[in-house]
Order: sequence, then structure tokens, then C-alpha cells
Amino acid sequence: MVLEPASTAVNKHGIHVFSDFDGTITLADTGVILIDHCVGRERRRQMDLDVLNGKTSFRELCVQLWGGVNLDWDQAIQMLEDVQVDPHFGKCLERCRAHDIPFTVLSCGLRALIEWYLKREIGSDFHGIEVLANEADYNPAGWTCTFHDASPHGHDKAVSIRRAREAAKANSQPFLAIFLGDGISDLSAAMEADILFARRGRDLETYCTREGIDHIAFDTFDTAIAEIEKLQQQQQQQ
Ligand SMILES: [Mg+2]
Repeated sequence: MVLEPASTAVNKHGIHVFSDFDGTITLADTGVILIDHCVGRERRRQMDLDVLNGKTSFRELCVQLWGGVNLDWDQAIQMLEDVQVDPHFGKCLERCRAHDIPFTVLSCGLRALIEWYLKREIGSDFHGIEVLANEADYNPAGWTCTFHDASPHGHDKAVSIRRAREAAKANSQPFLAIFLGDGISDLSAAMEADILFARRGRDLETYCTREGIDHIAFDTFDTAIAEIEKLQQQQQQQ
């Protein structure tokens, strides 16, 4: 499957939508489902706490926990088939593509799983969509990650937004980053976004509310569609 790098698309609006995948595009976390099944919830939660307490990095957590996933690809997909995608995600994507607004998925999860869901949602035509995530081999003896970058997260989502901003600036193009997320691993990207959407009731929203960080709480991607429409109308009036 060939993915067109969205950041190189002609972007006359300057609007660029970035979105986390697990818990944001999907309603549940696909990694957690596989890892809890194979490694156990307790061990995963303990490692989550170790990351929060600075005892280990998220990157090391991925190495350890994905390494414990002893499923082949078909077994994994079977376990994930019932995970729901946000009911308005497809509509949001179609709107972005119809208006040449680049859409980039920023994930600390695994690219092939993300592409599997995208293909199920929208078919094989991925124009205008970019997926930045980690790679893995799906060896039933334990999965091995190849990380997107050298950061302690394995993928520093803020760097990806910054790169797109710098590319726009270098070409004297306008740039406005919309980011949608749900979790603490989205914090760096959240701080880099111009407009931030936090899934209601999840950790990112709680954190933003507590710390007084501007954000829009969302229940479905419909909220983002409305905001994009509003921005486009404002631009037309200028
Ligand atoms: Mg997430």
C-alpha cells in the first residue's frame, strides 16, 4: 500500500489535521487489547506506572510489552476486529481530502495495524493521508518494534508537527495545526498544536482542564468537522 506524504500536498488553506490513533480514531486502544491478552493487565499497568514515575521510558515499555505478544498477524486481527472506529472519522477524512487538507495520523502504535483499520474504513485509496507510526515484525514468538525516531517515546509527535510547520514556513505557506488526541502520550503534540481537541473523559482532557490548557473536548470527529468548516468560512471572508 502506497501512502502519499500528506505534508507535501498543496495546502492552500494552511490547515493540517493531525490525529492520534489509539483511543482517538479508534474508541479503544488496540495495543492494550493485544498486550493485556498476551502479557496480562497487571504487568502492563505496572509498566505504565513505571513510565509515569520515570523508572523506565515509554520506548522500553514498548520493547518489553510488544515483545510479549505471541500472536501471528491473523490472530491479532481476529482479536481487534470488533474495535470501533469513531463514527464520524470517515466523514472527517473525506472532508479533508475533498478540500486538500492534509491528514496525518501520529501514533506510538504500529503502522500495519493502523493501515488495516484505515483500509477497512475507506478502502485502498490513501491519497492525502500520511501515517507516522512505529514498524514491527509480527513474529508469533514476540513482536519486535522498529521505532519512528530516537526519542524516549519512540515517536515524538510534536517533532512531526514542527517539521510540517517548518516546511510550510520555508515555502511561505500558511500553517495551522489541528491535533486530536486522548492520552498523556499526546501531550507534546498537544502543546505544538494551534487548535487542540481532547477526547472527552480521557486523560488528555483531564490534564488540559487541570493545567488550564486551551482545548476543545470532543465526543466524535463531528466536532472537528464543524471547526474545520468554521475556519474555512473565516478564511473565505478574509
Ligand atoms: Mg491515544
